[in-house]
Amino acid sequence: QDVRTLVESHLATIPDFPEPGILFRDLTPVFADGPAFHALSEALTEPFAGRFDVLAGVEARGFLLAGAASVLSGAGVLPVRKAGKLPRKVLREEYALEYGTAALEVHEGELPPGTRVLVVDDVLATGGTVGAAARLVERAGWQVAGIAVAIELVDLGGREALGDRYEIFSLLQY
Ligand code: IMP
Repeated sequence: QDVRTLVESHLATIPDFPEPGILFRDLTPVFADGPAFHALSEALTEPFAGRFDVLAGVEARGFLLAGAASVLSGAGVLPVRKAGKLPRKVLREEYALEYGTAALEVHEGELPPGTRVLVVDDVLATGGTVGAAARLVERAGWQVAGIAVAIELVDLGGREALGDRYEIFSLLQY
């Protein structure tokens, strides 16, 4: 079975969550199915094979995908955390939310300079989240190998917002 069909058959779509008018894509049934989660985790890194050293997973659903893809590909994991969680010296990037801002952090010096990092998350919407993760990677002195997401919400324009700086792969587009 085609990986897109397999993953899509387990995807849940919830109208009006977390607020009216939003069509929420829920990957938890995909995570709960062994073959679908395996196929998704493998598919995310395939376009970048041989071109990355470490997977950066964005808290929290990106952790699951980066963790699984790391075991399948042999790459390490860099946890990109929400503000205030990491115990050593951090770099911080703020990004816009619909209301207000949020921030992501990584440990400075966590990886050797020039390490090729593939940024992984579940959903690309406006691009704020993965964009902040990618900027952190660059500010830390590493290289962005690309951005890989399970789902791209095309109408929200994340790909355009990120520009042609980064190679972006999404398995499913809505
Ligand atoms: P962005 O920063 O606007 O690109 O939003 C992406 C972030 O919001 C990701 O970390 C997602 O986990 C989350 N997100 C946005 N829309 C959805 C959705 O429909 N389902 C699940 N997560 C979403």
